[in-house]
Amino acid sequence: MAVVEKELLCKDFLTKDKQLLIDGKWVNAESGKTFETRNPATDQVIGKVAEGSKADVDKAVKAARKAVEEGPWRKMSTAQRAKLMYKLADLVEKNADQLAQLETLDNGKPINESKHIDVPQTIETFRYYGGWATKIEGETINANPNMFTYTLREPVGVVGQIIPWNFPMLMAAWKLGPALACGNAIVLKPAEQTPLTALRIGELVLEAGFPEGVVNIITGFGADSAGSAISNHMDIDKVAFTGEDKTGREIVKASVGNLKRVSLELGGKAPNIVFADADIDAAVKGAITGIFFNQGQVCCAGSRLFLEKSIHDEFMSKLLARVAKMQQGPGMDEKTQIGPQVSKDQQDRILSYIDIAKKEGASVACGGDAPAGDLAKGYFVKPTIFTGVNNDMRIAQEEVFGPVLAVIPFNSVEEVAEQANKITYGLSGAVWTSDVKKAHKLASQIKAGTVWVNCVNMLDPAIPFGGYKMSGYGRELGKHSIDLYTNIKSVWVNLG
Ligand code: ADP
Repeated sequence: MAVVEKELLCKDFLTKDKQLLIDGKWVNAESGKTFETRNPATDQVIGKVAEGSKADVDKAVKAARKAVEEGPWRKMSTAQRAKLMYKLADLVEKNADQLAQLETLDNGKPINESKHIDVPQTIETFRYYGGWATKIEGETINANPNMFTYTLREPVGVVGQIIPWNFPMLMAAWKLGPALACGNAIVLKPAEQTPLTALRIGELVLEAGFPEGVVNIITGFGADSAGSAISNHMDIDKVAFTGEDKTGREIVKASVGNLKRVSLELGGKAPNIVFADADIDAAVKGAITGIFFNQGQVCCAGSRLFLEKSIHDEFMSKLLARVAKMQQGPGMDEKTQIGPQVSKDQQDRILSYIDIAKKEGASVACGGDAPAGDLAKGYFVKPTIFTGVNNDMRIAQEEVFGPVLAVIPFNSVEEVAEQANKITYGLSGAVWTSDVKKAHKLASQIKAGTVWVNCVNMLDPAIPFGGYKMSGYGRELGKHSIDLYTNIKSVWVNLG
C-alpha cells in the first residue's frame, strides 16, 4: 500500500475513545454503551464510539435550546458568526490530510477522492455559508400607508440533522453550514457506519470557538435509537435528513408530533442519456464517473445509462475497455480508483440486486460478483454492467446504491424522455449531445432537481440541489438552504 503506518496522520484520533459532543463537552453515552466502526477494506475494527440514545438526544436538545435562546450565540453579531465559520473552514484546511485519511478508513472511498473532493468541498461549503451569515436580510413592504411593515428572518431554532454514510464529512458540512449561518443550534447524528469525521469536525468546532451547545453531535443508530429520538423530539423545530426514501417516510411520520419542519434529500435512479451526436469519448468517461464514483454510493448516480441504438455497440466496447482498466483496491492505496462498499450489509444488498438482474434476464457485460483473493476480506463488489435491460426491470427501477449500471437502448428523443421519467425518483439526470436544442428540450422535460448537459456529478455550494418526486423536498445549497433554516416574521407597526 502506498500509505504506510508512519504516515497515518489520524492515528491519535483513532486510538482514543470517541464520545458524544453535548453542550461543548465530550461525554460518554448515558447508557455507557459503545459500538465499533470498521475499515470496509479489511473488516478490521478501527474505533470504538459512544452509542447515543434518547437520553443523550434529550440532553443535547436542552443544550441546543439554551444556546439558541439565551447563550452568546444569540447575541453575537452576524460578522462574529461568519468569523467563526471561516475559522472552522481554516481548521478543516489545516487538518485536510488527516481528515481525508479518516474518511477513507471509515468509509472505504479512494484516498484521492477524499483528498480532492470531500475535503475541499467541505471547506468550500463552510466558507460559502460563512459568507451568507452577514447577508441574511428581511424586507420592507409598503402595502399600507398607515402601516410600516417589514419582515425579519430568524433562526428556526433547534435543528436535528440526520446524515448518511456515503459522504460523511461533506454531508455534515451541507447541514451544519447553512444552519450555523442562520444562527440555529444543532443536534447532528452521523451515520453509524461512518461516525469518525463528524466527530473530528466536532473537535474543530470547539477549537474554532463556537459557544457551547451550538453544535452537539450524537453518534448512534437510527430506528428506535438516536435517529428516531431526533425525528420524534417535541422540542426540535426542524429536521433535515439525507438517506433512503424508506427512512425519509419514517422521519416524516415521526415529525407529526410537533409538526416540525422537514427537509429530505433521498434516493435516485438517474437517467444518463447519450445521443449518437455526442462526444462519445467524453460520454464514456461521464458514464464511468456517473456510476462508479464513490463505488456507486451516490444518490445522484447515473445508474440508468440510455444509449441511442445506433451507437450502442461502439459505446459499450469503449466503456468495457475502460472499466477493465479500473484499479480496485483498498481506499488507502493511492492507485485505487474503486474501493470497497461501506459495509457488509451494503455488499450483500448489492450482490442480491445483481442476482435479481440476472434472474430478470439482463446480461452481465462485466463484473457481476465480489472479487476473490486479497480483496475478499473487505466489502468489495466488482464494477458491474448489465446490458439488455428494459426500464421496467427492478434493476432499472430500484436504487441499488452500488457500482451496478443498467444499460437501456433507445430510438428517439420522445421515447427516451418518457422512459427517463418513468421512475418514482427525480433527483438528477444527464444528457450527452452536441445538439443545443435537444439538450435544452430534455433539460426541461426531465423531471429532476438537477440536469447535467455534457457533464455529470457537478456540485457547488452555490448551486441548489434536491429532488422531485420521491427524491425528497426542499433544496440544499445555494441561497435556498437559507430558506430551510430561517423563519420569516412579518412585523406591522401602526403609524396612525
Ligand atoms: P442506509 O439504510 O443506507 O444506512 P438510512 O437512510 O437508513 O440509510 O440512513 C441514513 C441515516 O438515517 C443514518 O444516520 C441512520 O442512522 C438514520 N436512520 C435510519 N433509520 C432511521 C429512523 N427510523 N429514524 C431516524 N433516523 C434513522
